Amino acid sequence: MTNFNLIRIIAFSFLITLVACGKDESIQLNKEYQGVEAELWSYFEKFEAEAAERGISIDLAAAGITGSIEKIHAHGTVGLCNHRLDEPNHVIIDADFWATASQNAKEMIIFHELGHCYLERGHNDDKNIDGTCASIMRSGRGGCIDFYTSSNKNSYLDELYSDESAN
Ligand SMILES: [Zn+2]
Repeated sequence: MTNFNLIRIIAFSFLITLVACGKDESIQLNKEYQGVEAELWSYFEKFEAEAAERGISIDLAAAGITGSIEKIHAHGTVGLCNHRLDEPNHVIIDADFWATASQNAKEMIIFHELGHCYLERGHNDDKNIDGTCASIMRSGRGGCIDFYTSSNKNSYLDELYSDESAN
């Protein structure tokens, strides 16, 4: 065997290795949620991961929760949970909100709607002493101020998953 052929073989197997690694990664990046718009997948996955960190097992795909981003015509409404009797519940996020909102705002609204659609929670307009909302399950009409930021979201997530008996 010439050195040249040996180099070609090594180069070829290296290429195969690269392709194989790339393939595995793309499979592991996202779980698939049938009936859910792909842009929402990472948020659905995070909703499950945050629950898992708190010892709660949630599988939204198995539950069949679906989701879409579309124009919501009701004024001031950026998200909805459609409760359906004969099918799993459906989350709708407003397209105009989606186009401009920050990642934290999107996460809060999606988690709020999954709070209705999956956790079957109602609204909770309790306030903290400083006027901020005590829960992301606030109605939006209760006069509290949303304060879901990277530095304080943990307490909101604790509240979201732990307090299943709240109205
Ligand atoms: Zn709501």
